[in-house]
Amino acid sequence: MKINVLTLYPEMFPGFLGYSLAGKALAEQKYQLNVVNIRDFATDNYKSVDDTPFGGGAGMIMKPDVLDSAIKATYSQGDIYYLSPRGEVFNQKTAHAFAQKDEMTFICGRFEGIDERILEKWQIKEISIGDFVLSGGEPALLTMLDAVIRLLPSVMGNKQSMSEESFENGLLEYPQYTKPQNWEGRLVPDVLVSGHHAKINAWRLEQSIALTKTRRPDLWTSYLAQKKD
Ligand code: SAH
Repeated sequence: MKINVLTLYPEMFPGFLGYSLAGKALAEQKYQLNVVNIRDFATDNYKSVDDTPFGGGAGMIMKPDVLDSAIKATYSQGDIYYLSPRGEVFNQKTAHAFAQKDEMTFICGRFEGIDERILEKWQIKEISIGDFVLSGGEPALLTMLDAVIRLLPSVMGNKQSMSEESFENGLLEYPQYTKPQNWEGRLVPDVLVSGHHAKINAWRLEQSIALTKTRRPDLWTSYLAQKKD
C-alpha cells in the first residue's frame, strides 16, 4: 500500500507510526509513506502557501494553485482525501475499507482550511476523526493510519484478537484480566479460570452487551438493526 501525504509539516511523519507494530511494518515495507511538502510548490519569493479569505473573517486559507501543483506532482491513482471536521467520520469500518486500497492520497489542512475549488476540481473526499477541531490534519491522519496499518494483511500477528476487539463485532470489548489472579484482594471472575470455553464465551458476550448498552446506546441500536437483517 502506498500512502501519499501532502502536508506543511513533513517532519511530523512518520511520527508515532515509526514505533511498535506500525513502525515494524514500515521498516519491513508493508506500506510506503510518501510525504510531500506543500511549501515546495509555492511560487512567490516568500514561499506563501496561504492567503486571506474572500468575504473577510479570521484566519488564512491554503491556496488552491499551490495545492494543485502539489497534487499534480504526487497523484497517480486512487482516492484523494482531505482531513476535515466537515468530513464523514472515520470508524473501524472505514479502517477496513482503507486497508484494502493500493494507493491513497491525503491532504492535511492547516490554518482555517483549504480553498473549496481544489476539493471540486479533484473530487476530493473529506474525512474527519470526530466532532472536534484540531489545529491541523496531521495528527488526525496519523491516528487514522495507525488504525488502518494494524489491519493490513501480515501486519497484525494475532487474527483472533482482532476479530474480538471493540467495534469488530459491533460491540465494545468485554473486561480483560491477566496475572496475578488475586491482586490486592481483587479476584479475577471465576468463569475465566474455569477452563470452560463455552461458558467463557457466553460471559464475554454478556459483558460486551451490557457495556455497549450502557456506554454506547447508539452502537447497541445499530447492533440490533444489523442482527435483524
Ligand atoms: N475552519 C475549519 C477548521 C480548520 S482546522 C472548520 O471550521 O471546519 C485546521 C485543519 O485541521 C483542517 O484544515 C483539517 O485538515 C484539520 N482538522 C481539524 N479538525 C479535524 C478533524 N476533526 N478531523 C480531521 N481533520 C481535522
